[in-house]
Amino acid sequence: MADFTELRLILGDQQNGGHSWYKSQNPEILYVMLELHQEADYTTHHIQKITAFFCSMRYFKTQLELQGHRVYYQPITHRDAQASLAFNLQKLIKKYRIRQFAYQEPDEYRLDCQLKEFAATLSIPVKVYSSEHFLTSRAEIEAATKPFLMERFYRRMRLAHEVLLDSKHQALGGRWNFDADNRQPLKELPQLRSQYKFKNNLKDVLSDIKKAGLRSMGIAEPFNWPINREQALEALNNFIKTALPHFGNYQDHMISGNPYVFHALISFSLNVKHLSPIEVIRAAENAYHNHPNRFPLAAVEGFIRQVLGWREYVRLIYWNQMPQYARLNYFNHTQALPAWFWNGQTRMNCVSQCITQSLEHAYAHHIQRLMIIGNFALLAGLSPDAVDAWYLGVYIDAIEWVEMPNTRGMSQYADGGLMATKPYISSGQYIHKMSNYCKSCFYNVKLKTGEGACPFNSLYWNFIDRHQNLLKSNMRMRIPLINWNKTAASTKAALIQQAAVYLQNLSTL
Ligand code: FAD
Ligand code: SF4
Repeated sequence: MADFTELRLILGDQQNGGHSWYKSQNPEILYVMLELHQEADYTTHHIQKITAFFCSMRYFKTQLELQGHRVYYQPITHRDAQASLAFNLQKLIKKYRIRQFAYQEPDEYRLDCQLKEFAATLSIPVKVYSSEHFLTSRAEIEAATKPFLMERFYRRMRLAHEVLLDSKHQALGGRWNFDADNRQPLKELPQLRSQYKFKNNLKDVLSDIKKAGLRSMGIAEPFNWPINREQALEALNNFIKTALPHFGNYQDHMISGNPYVFHALISFSLNVKHLSPIEVIRAAENAYHNHPNRFPLAAVEGFIRQVLGWREYVRLIYWNQMPQYARLNYFNHTQALPAWFWNGQTRMNCVSQCITQSLEHAYAHHIQRLMIIGNFALLAGLSPDAVDAWYLGVYIDAIEWVEMPNTRGMSQYADGGLMATKPYISSGQYIHKMSNYCKSCFYNVKLKTGEGACPFNSLYWNFIDRHQNLLKSNMRMRIPLINWNKTAASTKAALIQQAAVYLQNLSTL
């Protein structure tokens, strides 16, 4: 049995082939990758998400071996896969007489705690490395103080990384944010691009998932996700060529039967680190510099803001605020999720389309997550813990550091406004404007009460009424509160009564 000097743990979302660990080959270093029940069981994951993780990890292991690295890889069918991460590491340290243990900073608080606790039990030296992926360090995040303003953070990031700046080090085009120039009406939608398709052999992984008896949701195929760096680069290039020019204008639109619109579909690749955020940002920036007529600044800036701004910003919220963030419930919502969250069978066409699509593709774009499913969950008073668990399971890109601030913070306002400047809620009118869902819905978006009235309408006003004490200090909620207070008492009573009927019958909506 070979002895190794050092054991280096590679977590499932640490597939950064450009990491300095891999710059040289050292036969005394053992890289360890583990498929574990503890990682597959902490919530019910979408089958495509488990498949994507295992397929990509197995591919990454082969790549490391081809480069001459020594790798121990344990599949989910191994007898120790049911045991904890600590047990497996301890076993390998003993077996290979390891003299130093090393790992990269985990992105999840849960794993960070587990590894710190494990490290404290060891009598050998432990080294912790950066994952060399993000554009903000953990130290900067820990030093950050409230208020956490996204726009200010984003400007700082633009300046620090010299992104879209002119020769005077000012925002290119004279503005930091071109959102006002984005967002076109749905009827002017250009030809939608065709979705890229990657051929990957999923047979062994799907069979192992079945053998291991892992719990999951959703359907396994069609599976179109990029599972290695080459495919991730192809997905990025495909997006830049065919969708980036329209990204800004149509990023909020929702179209029945078209889950992707002009979105990039690179969140899995970014989150498992097949792509680095800076290379994605530079690719979009270069497209603008090389062909400014084809790639409008507003579209490019809008896209870069998502990766350089939002993605890094939610990570700051997570690492600055955990662990208490996971318990926040500003509105004290406690309602369980209706069963249709797992089959999409609700008569609300918008919700049905978005949930069905999520179960089929492990994907919904930002506005579907925020303004359809999240909006409904907030208006219906669903428990943030239950909403969080569902989002953490269903999406291909769901890893807690990015899922939780988006779900609990931005979408459920459970942090009382630490992240979002107001609760993201709307009546059916917004959904009607931004999608074609209402056209084929059982409910009538124009009706607020009575038979067939769109549930979003009464639930919206009921929410405003129920939480007016908590909302009145928020300047951005002033207008809805004024409107509600001006509403005739009889209209208010009818809306509240209608909402009560819907809330009592969530499972049959
Ligand atoms: P695009 O819309 O094309 O955007 C490009 C990239 O920008 C994304 O790949 C992503 O890396 C980044 N980005 C955009 N918006 C955000 C954001 N708000 N936070 C972080 N990164 C962002 N994103 C995740 O990666 N994992 C999650 O678990 C997740 N959960 C979400 C839950 C809710 C309730 C909401 C409202 C948003 C969530 N997001 C999450 C953010 C966003 O919806 C996804 O990143 C995006 O839909 C992924 O698809 P895309 O690659 O086509 O993104
Ligand atoms: Fe959704 Fe209401 Fe429109 Fe139906 S009518 S799709 S429930 S917004």
